[in-house]
Amino acid sequence: MKLSIVAALLSAHAVVPAAAGFIPQQNSQASSVRGSVMLRGAAPAVQNEDLDKIVADSPLLSLHRTISEIESISNDESKVGEALVKYLEEHGYTAEKQVVPVEEDANSTAERFNVWAYPNGNPQPKVILTSHIDTVPPHIPYTLHAPEGEFDRANVRIMGRGTVDAKASVAAQITAALNYREANPDAAIGLLFVVGEEVGGTGMVHFSDSDLNTTPPFFRTLIFGEPTELKLVDGHKGNVRFTVEAKGLAAHSGYPWLGHSAVSEILPVLSRIDELGDIPVEEGGLPASEKYGRTTLNIGTIKGGAAGNIVPVSASASVTVRLAAGTVEEAQETIKRAVSDVSGGSQNITVTFPNDKAYPPTDLDVDAEGFEVMTVNYGTDIPKLTIHNEGTDIQVKKYLYGPGSIFVAHGVDEGLTIGDLEEAVEGYGRLIEAGIKRS
Ligand SMILES: [Zn+2]
Repeated sequence: MKLSIVAALLSAHAVVPAAAGFIPQQNSQASSVRGSVMLRGAAPAVQNEDLDKIVADSPLLSLHRTISEIESISNDESKVGEALVKYLEEHGYTAEKQVVPVEEDANSTAERFNVWAYPNGNPQPKVILTSHIDTVPPHIPYTLHAPEGEFDRANVRIMGRGTVDAKASVAAQITAALNYREANPDAAIGLLFVVGEEVGGTGMVHFSDSDLNTTPPFFRTLIFGEPTELKLVDGHKGNVRFTVEAKGLAAHSGYPWLGHSAVSEILPVLSRIDELGDIPVEEGGLPASEKYGRTTLNIGTIKGGAAGNIVPVSASASVTVRLAAGTVEEAQETIKRAVSDVSGGSQNITVTFPNDKAYPPTDLDVDAEGFEVMTVNYGTDIPKLTIHNEGTDIQVKKYLYGPGSIFVAHGVDEGLTIGDLEEAVEGYGRLIEAGIKRS
């Protein structure tokens, strides 16, 4: 059928810029978007202008569009930060820029900052909603897509980089806070939007180490926004990263006994590391737990050697562990022991743990009413925020909730429906209510 060929061409065109250098995710959203292109090409019933009007008529959707259209790949967040400061100041908030140092390896040296905002005259709110304003690359333009079949506003799909992770959370959190304060003008609700979440959590670490994170804490409830499919998350796995390096001695490949191969040295080590999540703790493996399942390891990169005819002088691999139980220190000990055992304590092998990014499994609160609960495998900023309640009886509750799915979050098909975005405002409203009631 001609129409479908046209649709295929249109849809191929639509994904080309985003797909360059990127592996498309296989999921159902892809087909629905292609369908919508066909609908727009074939049925004049729903025009682009109609979709634009739906967005323009809604403060939530307009805010979401504004911040999603601003490119904000990690280390380049200041433009979207400025837009948020302006918006919040127009809506009864005092918005402060908390300048965050530029990462050493960043391509850009432009100023970057977290946005810390509180209702005018109320700098120590009891409830804080927080999310991140950076995205992964590449930037994908914001687009609107009519649903297949009969038109339903709630099923209009919004696509583009950051539309889910995490600008959907940011827009919904702001809207929920403003709505709540419209009905309860004295409600103390803070908003914290951090930079650098996708590259190690610099922004949240910076906030955590700053004077704003008081001892004891002035806040009692933290509501974190990430894509959770509108479910409340009861916790996520920990994260431990490390690199393994092997040293060798170069020689002609025809006379390998004159050298020492770093690749041969590292292979059995990596093979052992690869199975640490699958073997029992008693046998030197990493722990599992009922809540989080198995600890998993991903050997994400391997490098080594210079050419096929040279005995390799060096080899290295970088590994990320998603930790299901125990502490960071225990996991590091297990890994060091496994490497030492399999290499016979070889001096040519070194394991390095970067000291700033590791955290144990993180348990979260789920006592707010009316939510489905789930556990996730991805990490968040939550462990980066140290709560200074030592020696007090202050309890700080932490919730994790947001619109959209993590399965599309970093892919070319990143997007969500208007219905999900609007429902998130309701969900955040209920979490704010729970927080305000206990403070
Ligand atoms: Zn995120």
